[in-house]
Amino acid sequence: MSKRIVILGGGYGGLICARTVRTHLSSQQAAITIVNRHPEHQIVTELHRLAAGNVSQHAVSLPLDRLLKRKNIDVKIGDVSSIDIQGGKVRMDSGDSCEYDVLVLALGSETNYFGIPGLKENSFSLKSVADANRIHAHLEQQILQFKMMGDSSDATFVVGGGGLSGVELIGEFADELPGICRRHGVSFEVVGLYLIEAMPTILPMFPPHLVQRAISSLEARGVKFLLGCPVTGMRDKAVTLKDGSAIKTGTFVWTGGVKGNPLVAGCGIEVERGRAKVNPYLQSVSHPSVFLAGDCAVVKDYNGRPYPPSAQLALQMGRRVGENVAAAVQGKRMKTFHPQLGGTLASLGRKDGIGTIGKRGITLKGTTASVMKKASNVRYLSSINGLFSLLP
Ligand SMILES: Cc1cc2nc3c(=O)[nH]c(=O)nc-3n(C[C@H](O)[C@H](O)[C@H](O)COP(=O)(O)OP(=O)(O)OC[C@H]3O[C@@H](n4cnc5c(N)ncnc54)[C@H](O)[C@@H]3O)c2cc1C
Repeated sequence: MSKRIVILGGGYGGLICARTVRTHLSSQQAAITIVNRHPEHQIVTELHRLAAGNVSQHAVSLPLDRLLKRKNIDVKIGDVSSIDIQGGKVRMDSGDSCEYDVLVLALGSETNYFGIPGLKENSFSLKSVADANRIHAHLEQQILQFKMMGDSSDATFVVGGGGLSGVELIGEFADELPGICRRHGVSFEVVGLYLIEAMPTILPMFPPHLVQRAISSLEARGVKFLLGCPVTGMRDKAVTLKDGSAIKTGTFVWTGGVKGNPLVAGCGIEVERGRAKVNPYLQSVSHPSVFLAGDCAVVKDYNGRPYPPSAQLALQMGRRVGENVAAAVQGKRMKTFHPQLGGTLASLGRKDGIGTIGKRGITLKGTTASVMKKASNVRYLSSINGLFSLLP
């Protein structure tokens, strides 16, 4: 009898998993359903470019039904509201529900506000196309507001978090704001650009000389770094810092942390700090009919240290989960998961970047890194038949 495979989340992990399962199992062997909040697969790693207006929405938002065309995969759009692990049933906000024999959780992560007062209410997040569009519209509006009122807080843009997303976003702001200012007859000289980070440095995944390269490049374009400065609150258009100082701003984008998806944390499977614990086959350690891909699970290296969540890891997990779900359905041996992480690339605006690639950690900077970053996106799009998104 055909098995019912339900995949929650149509991001990196979920989409690749769905495609992989279908390459191994025919429609007679498995009915596959993918459930996602949006009708599109969103290219989260490019959202900073959308937020700054440096890329169009259709380049980062690809219709799931087009990506899964002719795969005979049922696409359900809406919010999952509960997961009944004992009953093998998923419910959605719409009232719709689906039953499963095998469940794949690929619901990603959520912004972590760490309980900092006023932060959630008064900051922007950058986790979806809607978030990015909101930030972009706000940038223009703030420059216009500054032009009318002359209040410098309207021309002050602050990003909290010195990880990949925060640094890439401030790089885009530094490149795009001069043009926005010019269009509205405002001098870029008045614009304040800040990146705040609680740790003493940014981008901990890169060697110190590349971090310094990133800082110098961004400083040359007007970014001020406040490092070792934990944010303590956001109120009255002001970000407050642990040292007692405050920055007046009408724009604070918080990228300072992520946490596991609460649906995964609360559904009854075993979790560690809100992320699912998995065995070497990427099954839940407590519920073997549940497989996990991407940010919502924790995968550890040989030293027991969790791998940082990344698109690269989510993709590899999605692929292995797809293979293992198919193997489980066919009664074959499953394979253990060993990520092959090929390095990291960070863009620092339109034409600059840093990166490490390969097992030996070859370092890249400048245009080469920037081009490599764009090429890795094109390679990904090609792997999901999504190159149409690059057409004008
Ligand atoms: C701005 C930014 C830049 C980044 N840059 C990089 C980078 O350069 N390199 C890198 O490796 N990583 C980067 N990352 C991290 C990377 O994007 C994530 O690690 C990756 O998206 C995780 O993939 P995933 O499949 O677990 O989750 P996602 O890709 O987030 O997919 C989860 C899916 O689940 C859906 N979903 C969630 N909750 C529900 C619900 N209740 N009901 C229905 N659907 C739901 C979401 O809509 C989404 O489609 C970046 C992240 C951000 C935010």
